[in-house]
Amino acid sequence: MNNLLGAAEIREIAERIGVRPTKKLGQNFVVDANTCRKIVKNADVGIDDVALEIGPGLGSLTLAMLESAKEVIAIEIDDRLAAELPLTAIRHGFDASKLTIINQDAMGISELPTDPTVLVANLPYNVSVPVLLRFLELFPTLRSGVVMVQSEVADRLVARPNNKVYGSPSVKATWWADLTSAGTVSRSIFWPVPNVDSSLVRFVRHQSAGDEELRKTTFKIIDAAFSQRRKMMRAALSDLCGGSAGASAIIEASGIDPTIRGEALELADFIKIAITLSK
Ligand code: SAM
Repeated sequence: MNNLLGAAEIREIAERIGVRPTKKLGQNFVVDANTCRKIVKNADVGIDDVALEIGPGLGSLTLAMLESAKEVIAIEIDDRLAAELPLTAIRHGFDASKLTIINQDAMGISELPTDPTVLVANLPYNVSVPVLLRFLELFPTLRSGVVMVQSEVADRLVARPNNKVYGSPSVKATWWADLTSAGTVSRSIFWPVPNVDSSLVRFVRHQSAGDEELRKTTFKIIDAAFSQRRKMMRAALSDLCGGSAGASAIIEASGIDPTIRGEALELADFIKIAITLSK
């Protein structure tokens, strides 16, 4: 087993390459090797996996992934971090030919050199939900993964109906996968120490809930339902259905009470409404 990055080395590399962690890019680096190994183990990364990491930073998790995966693809927006990462991997005795670094904004990625099978990431906080949804949508070969996000975001992602934090990300993510909470992470394992707590969310992809056209219609309904979450569904869908009477008729024909609020519905209900609306 090669040694992973520790706190002193992380600061030394950052200083040497002139990186002062910024809030804008959500740069809080994990300085605890045990946590990195635990996350990779939790994600079930194996020797046949092409592991994808978004925001590898200085490489704390990346090196742990290189220990277990066949290949690692890492997408990093910061030029200095992207340039340094292969050198860090080599210095730690890893085969750098297993590592592909893509120096780009993850939100602009639409293809990858190899189909990824597992996602492991300490996601940049400002884009964590859109990045996760985007990669679930674009890369159907991603069968599972573990992502670290702000605890508040983790709670929203795994929330079920009738919970006050249940919302559009909770429903949309379940289009592709089952999401479960995989524990919290102490603030003290980051440098710099953030002023929010972090948690792990594990996902496992399930069979597709429908084709792209149905997904788009379903997501439109979800967006409408949660943009006015205190409104009854018949009011929330009024614009989409040409008025409140039309909305009532469509919701009722889907077997759902039009006076219910979106926060009480699960993905299957939104899909039923989308199917009726598309007819
Ligand atoms: N994985 C590293 C770790 O755990 O120590 C770093 C995680 S840090 C929370 C987030 C990383 O994502 C930073 O390296 C940051 O530069 C990078 N990042 C921020 N926004 C990004 C984006 N839109 N696309 C790709 N990388 C991004």
